[in-house]
Amino acid sequence: MRILLTGGAGFIGSSLAHHIVHRSGKSDSSCCPDHRFYSQEESRIPADVEVYVLDKLTYAGDLSRLRSIEHELAGFEEIDIADAEAVDGAFEGFEPDAVLHLAAESHVDRSIDGGQVFMRTNVLGTQVLLDAARRNDVEKFLHVSTDEVYGSIETGSTSEDASLDPSSPYAASKASSDLVARSHQETYGIPVAITRCTNNYGPRQHREKLIPKMVTRASKGDKLPIYGDGQNVRDWLYVKDHCQALLRILQDGSFEASIYNIAGRDERPNLEVVQRILDHLDRGEELIEFVEDRPGHDYRYSIDDERTRQLGWSPRVPFDEGLSHTIDQLLNEDPPEDIA
Ligand code: NAD
Repeated sequence: MRILLTGGAGFIGSSLAHHIVHRSGKSDSSCCPDHRFYSQEESRIPADVEVYVLDKLTYAGDLSRLRSIEHELAGFEEIDIADAEAVDGAFEGFEPDAVLHLAAESHVDRSIDGGQVFMRTNVLGTQVLLDAARRNDVEKFLHVSTDEVYGSIETGSTSEDASLDPSSPYAASKASSDLVARSHQETYGIPVAITRCTNNYGPRQHREKLIPKMVTRASKGDKLPIYGDGQNVRDWLYVKDHCQALLRILQDGSFEASIYNIAGRDERPNLEVVQRILDHLDRGEELIEFVEDRPGHDYRYSIDDERTRQLGWSPRVPFDEGLSHTIDQLLNEDPPEDIA
């Protein structure tokens, strides 16, 4: 299978590239920082899989995340997915069988500061990729989305059939891109599956996101700003578990505009996550500082992912183990200077 992976220099995309390379046996496990959670022996990926990465290398993209597997990739192109000419060229050159679409603007706070680039990349970029997929007879288009499209839910869990109710410009752009993807299945018959995953954490995440940001600041003894009263609830999933779910859906899922929720079933208030980080680093709670809440801050996300679990997937990395590994990785990297 020839896989075109968008956003492969980002947090989840690079982890997915490592996961595919590792599980297809193309390289030994040392290339994969968290190989201990998924052994090569249980590989179900054909050894002849080829992965070609497209990424614009925005502030969130970093090629060093792919350095240890660069020779195992079929190629990399620095491309804006909203640039139709460049995207067409990449499709014609590589002739993918499948697209794993992860490229996106992904940070809610940045979307509140200015939503235009979110609409351009997340909505127009998805449209451009789908157009190219249609012209090139792609067999599977996996569109990676988020639980944030459903909006906040006080109790219970949201199923794939729930209506979309996004709160932030980021979530609105992802919800819009989901509808664009769905419409291409309905109108043109492009085989599309849409995944909606909960909060990911793990190595190589940009330090603007909650866990890496708090680890970076706490390790330096800086204050830890927490929105509101810290009681907003998120469901956490280790990034490799997300990658494994994506591969399972790619291999065994339905591509008839099918939607798959992917959950950790491990809900925690943000304050508790920060307290766990402080425990791991042996730091005190006096570092915690409650700050004015984020506008439109959703109270709780919770999704029902039974459809994905019926494919035989379930997460395998417990939160404390994944967190401890993530913290070790972060402390072994040089932190950038500009972390707020
Ligand atoms: P990220 O911000 O770490 O990476 C995004 C990547 O996309 C970067 O490498 C960036 O350079 C690239 N990119 C941005 N704009 C581009 C453009 N116009 N053209 C080409 N490349 C571009 O994001 P992530 O956390 O790895 O998320 C990946 C996907 O998973 C996104 O679609 C996101 O919505 C979704 N998702 C993320 C989470 C999470 O917790 N991080 C949860 C659920 C779903």
